[in-house]
Amino acid sequence: MVYTEKRCWVCNAVITWGQSDTACKVQCRSLLYAESYRIERHKEESYRKNRPCRLQLGEWAETLRHYKWRCAFCKGPFESLDHFVPVSQGGATRVGNVVPACLQCQIAKGGLLPEEVEAIPRDVIERIARYLQRRAMPQTGKSLPVSRKS
Ligand SMILES: [Zn+2]
Ligand SMILES: [Zn+2]
Repeated sequence: MVYTEKRCWVCNAVITWGQSDTACKVQCRSLLYAESYRIERHKEESYRKNRPCRLQLGEWAETLRHYKWRCAFCKGPFESLDHFVPVSQGGATRVGNVVPACLQCQIAKGGLLPEEVEAIPRDVIERIARYLQRRAMPQTGKSLPVSRKS
């Protein structure tokens, strides 16, 4: 039998016996709790707008670890969940379309499609696009959402 060690969803430390399944310590647990609350809010918003929301906490936590809980664009503080393709442009709340961002970068992006954004260096945008494409693969093979009706 192979024993697979459990890793903290926040800091990737090994979780020892008796701790939770997903967090290694109280700080990590409260960070995860805040993120699950964030996803719930996005779920409600998607529901109101009749948009798909398939983001799981585990998937989001993996993306956050990848970007070290920093802004994916400038490595500044992580303050918000950014839809790489904006919701207003048909972007869905799913693992292939969400990255952590600081508010400044979110404002810089505005409601633009990634290829239209000029305030953020092109190589940064392309690196994120490649990462999101990879993340979207195991699920549907598509990173970009379907076009909206209106
Ligand atoms: Zn931890
Ligand atoms: Zn930023």
